[in-house]
Formats: sequence, C-alpha cells, structure tokens
Amino acid sequence: MRYFDAHCHVQFDDYADDQATLLERMREREIGGVVVGVDQRSSEEALALAERHDELWAAVGTHPNRIAQEPFDHDFYAALARHPKVVAVGECGLDYYRPSELTSEVKRAQQAALRAHADLAAEFGKPLVIHARPSKGTQDAYRDLIAIVREKNVQHGGRLRGDVHFFVGGLEEAHALFALDFTISFTAVITFAHEYDAVIRAVPLERILSETDAPYVAPASRRHERNDPLAVEEVVRRIAEIRGEDEDAVREAILANARGLFGV
Ligand SMILES: [Zn+2]
Repeated sequence: MRYFDAHCHVQFDDYADDQATLLERMREREIGGVVVGVDQRSSEEALALAERHDELWAAVGTHPNRIAQEPFDHDFYAALARHPKVVAVGECGLDYYRPSELTSEVKRAQQAALRAHADLAAEFGKPLVIHARPSKGTQDAYRDLIAIVREKNVQHGGRLRGDVHFFVGGLEEAHALFALDFTISFTAVITFAHEYDAVIRAVPLERILSETDAPYVAPASRRHERNDPLAVEEVVRRIAEIRGEDEDAVREAILANARGLFGV
C-alpha cells in the first residue's frame, strides 16, 4: 500500500456501473482505504466490500443527517463492529450547516447519536470517524463536538480516539482535537480552495490523514465530476506542496498515521 484514503464511499450506487474497474485501478496504484457507512444499509455494504478486498476496510455508523430517519441501533452496529475488517465507528457527528432545518430537537438527536457512537467505539476499542459541519461563519459544530468527545473520553478512561474528516475548523479546533488523540483529514477541496492552507502548514504532520470523501468533491483536475479514491494521490501531493515538504516523505508519514489509527 502506498496511499490511504481514510474516508470514501465506494459502496454507493454512484459506482454501480464501474466499481470493479475502479477497485482494480486502486489496486494497481496501491491505494487502500476505509469505506465509510452513512446508515445501516451502506455500513453493511462497506463491510461486504472490505471482506472481498485486502486493502479496503470498513467504518459503520449513521451520518448525522440520516439520524432522524434512522435512529441509532446499538445491537445492529455492535454485530458489525466486532468484525475484524470493521476498523472504525462512523461516520457520525454533528451537521449544523443548514440552520433552517436545525431545530433544537434535531440538534439534540444528533448529539445523542454521537454519544451512542462514542460508547460503541469505546466498547470495541475502535476509533471514531467524525463528520462535523458548522453553520456558516462559525465553529459551532466543532465546539459541541469537542465538548462531547471530552466528556466521553473521561467516561471511557481516555481511550477514545478517531479522525475528524473533511476538516474545516481552525487551528484552535485542530489543537483541541489533537489533545484528545484525534487526527484531522483533508479532501481534494484543498486542490482548489486555499482557506485550509494555513492549518495544513501549521499542524504536526503526525496528525494529518488523506481522504477523498468520494463520490463528493473531485480535485481541481476534474472538478464537478464524480470523485473516486484515485484522487488521494493529488491530496497528498497538495499537502506536501502547501507544507513545502518532500512528497514521498509526506506520503509515507500520512500512510503511517492511518495505519496507526485504524490498526491496518
Ligand atoms: Zn462521508
């Protein structure tokens, strides 16, 4: 394995026509990764893919935007989480991006589900895969996320860890998460947007993971097309460029970070 996509959704129907070809190309490029569930069905499908491919692993959980339709079911996810190819719990978290839809009831339900995912992660000793999206111009979702992770970490004897994917927070939020033994990961959004450069430059390399969040956010080279995990190479190259560091050294370090977090 040379590259690691810490967060992709190659089990989605978006790949119904060419999934086998894509997975073959990932194998050729030596790209491994975590296939992330967003609800029960996609979590099962993530595990089914991981069972068939040596360098794919699965994360199981319910996305905060799905939690209203599909309440968290501990026993369902516990049955998946004990599988050795399930290396994380999630994606779970807080999505405050559309305040008009965000009643206090919705917020409370997201927070309760995040706590339940954290308990499951602690129960199986696996890391969390976190989705946190603040409302425009604020860091509100990160503030609440950090408070909940802190609370759960104390409750579980400091054993919680994980990755905050598609990181859009600032340095303060990043350092609060590092203190809680979390990493942050960046997508191909950094190949065309520059507002994350300062954070990428300032944080320790040991705390960064690469991801694509495919099928979402394709890189600058093929913007607005369907994305895929092959783009992780561009993410790593861009991180190295922004930091002014040797690309191969950055690739190795990021791969080691992922191996450490997910135990792969
Ligand atoms: Zn995702």
